[in-house]
Amino acid sequence: MWQVFFIIILYVKLESDGILVGMRPFGERDLIATVFSREYGVVSGMIRAGAAKNKNRPLVGQVGNMTWSARLDDQLGAIHWEPSANLIVQMLNNNDALKYFNAMTDLIAKMLPEREQYEQLYTYTINMLREPLDKSKYLKWEILLLRELGYAIDLSHCSGCGAMQDLNYLSPKTCRAVCDKCAQPYLNKLYRLPITLETTYKLLANICEQQGIPIPNMRKLIENIF
Ligand SMILES: [Zn+2]
Repeated sequence: MWQVFFIIILYVKLESDGILVGMRPFGERDLIATVFSREYGVVSGMIRAGAAKNKNRPLVGQVGNMTWSARLDDQLGAIHWEPSANLIVQMLNNNDALKYFNAMTDLIAKMLPEREQYEQLYTYTINMLREPLDKSKYLKWEILLLRELGYAIDLSHCSGCGAMQDLNYLSPKTCRAVCDKCAQPYLNKLYRLPITLETTYKLLANICEQQGIPIPNMRKLIENIF
């Protein structure tokens, strides 16, 4: 009787739809997968014999249903992954879209803390990936990611004087706009507006530095941004 009771208490199960955003081999047959899920945010776990599957092989870019389960004393847990579609298929002959897609999955897998729900970012990501990615959509996505990471960009008025004109600078500390006049003493520290992928790269790099992690490789690979 007591044994049954303990098994129930020590077993945890999470179920959600999600996007497979990261995968690496673990031993010869297993994979460590990272899923960006609607209900639980980023969840990692082992897909047993995932590398040995011929049919329904797990691939980064798949959307599907995740069931994560573990005993409480097992940090890693196991993922059962049922793919329903692969979002990357429509981008295969679009090199730029692929690069943005790879950067996006890498940023999610490496920068979002595990087990924190980001439903807005999840919904936006899923909806956006149903169409081919381009630079402006990807930039909007990074701005949303920055907001989720606590860096909400506000360009509505100058953070120094409240002016709504001549807003040509951004403070990397507050992520708020600064007008030409207020910017003068700090020109070497402020970023120029409008926001580009160079601006968001710098902001992401700042966050990575604070967290003591390298900027995700796939983000570095986006060419022609500077
Ligand atoms: Zn001002």
